[in-house]
Amino acid sequence: MKITAAVTREPGGPFHLEPVDIEDPLPGEVRVRILATGICHTDMVMRDQLLPVPQPVVLGHEGAGIVESVGPGVRKVKAGDAVVISFNTCGTCPSCTNAAPSYCREFFPRNFFGTRLDGSSGLSKDGEPIHGNIFGQSSFATYALAHERNVVKVPDDAPVALLGPLACGVMTGVGTVTNALKVRAGQSVVVMGAGTVGLSAIMAARMVGAGRIIAIDPQPARRDMALSLGASDVIDPVGTDTVAAVLAMTQGVGVDYSIDTTARADVIRSGIMMLAPMGECAVVGAIAHGQDIAVDGGHLLSGGRRLRGVVEGDADPDQFIPWLIDLHRAGRLPFDRLVQFYPLADINQAVAASEQGQVIKPIILMPGTPAPVL
Ligand SMILES: [Zn+2]
Ligand SMILES: [Zn+2]
Repeated sequence: MKITAAVTREPGGPFHLEPVDIEDPLPGEVRVRILATGICHTDMVMRDQLLPVPQPVVLGHEGAGIVESVGPGVRKVKAGDAVVISFNTCGTCPSCTNAAPSYCREFFPRNFFGTRLDGSSGLSKDGEPIHGNIFGQSSFATYALAHERNVVKVPDDAPVALLGPLACGVMTGVGTVTNALKVRAGQSVVVMGAGTVGLSAIMAARMVGAGRIIAIDPQPARRDMALSLGASDVIDPVGTDTVAAVLAMTQGVGVDYSIDTTARADVIRSGIMMLAPMGECAVVGAIAHGQDIAVDGGHLLSGGRRLRGVVEGDADPDQFIPWLIDLHRAGRLPFDRLVQFYPLADINQAVAASEQGQVIKPIILMPGTPAPVL
């Protein structure tokens, strides 16, 4: 079948809209007519090869759409079902069977290798192989091959074209607070970086009744958004000693939790230094393999402080995404305030606007998809 896909052909290069052939779904696969797909910072990390994926490739990993056809053996969904598409996992390793699929032992091959496990991709152009299967989907396209494992059925009356970001960015921010750190009422949280993940963490921290919620971001508009979504305090890190500022706000004690969404080693170090005794710093942003983080050993040891990584908010998408939809419906997770829609033809403008900080969460609408009324 012929589809239109945004193909990335060189490191850091633009997205080229091209006609591409997509295969029929194999056993366990699901072909989805994409209505819309969020753009996540990790797509840029892959484009720039900081997280190396083979090119040419179709990126995109916050897809939302309608199941067009299913491969043999698929029972979870059928043609016509509305779905969002999350990360892909094996379903049988110790992490997957222990309700921790984001730590699947096959996470890299199933999400970042650009092919199925058998080496094929399902995508090609005039015989030229195009890499696909990024996050088990490659959803910067009018259709995507996903898997029974990573599609999550959503209610038919849900605003499907809005929901793609629940599959990665929003899930990561909310889940870091509710699943990974288990922030409780009255506890204090610092969120470093007020993009989609950071702002989602702030909404979740407010939801669980956290006390002090401190957002750190250099952009005034994002600090304002953080305040309007539940932050109690904001800090401009430019020219500011953020550790001293946080300690000053907390009577010199520090905070219970810090969450890094910036993937910068110096920022993560500051996130550890601002922890109270028993505090925990979560590294959430896509920091590169080989990137060291300097840690003050004495500070970590004394007070029993912790540093940990969190992937996709420790969430199991099958349970978590329906919960996020319910929260949004109830007005408790207004992530639609972060969103701006762009037609597929303007994907490069959407990426540029995101990288320049003009938009927090761009969502690409495929041709014919009306923008949801918000
Ligand atoms: Zn697994
Ligand atoms: Zn992502």
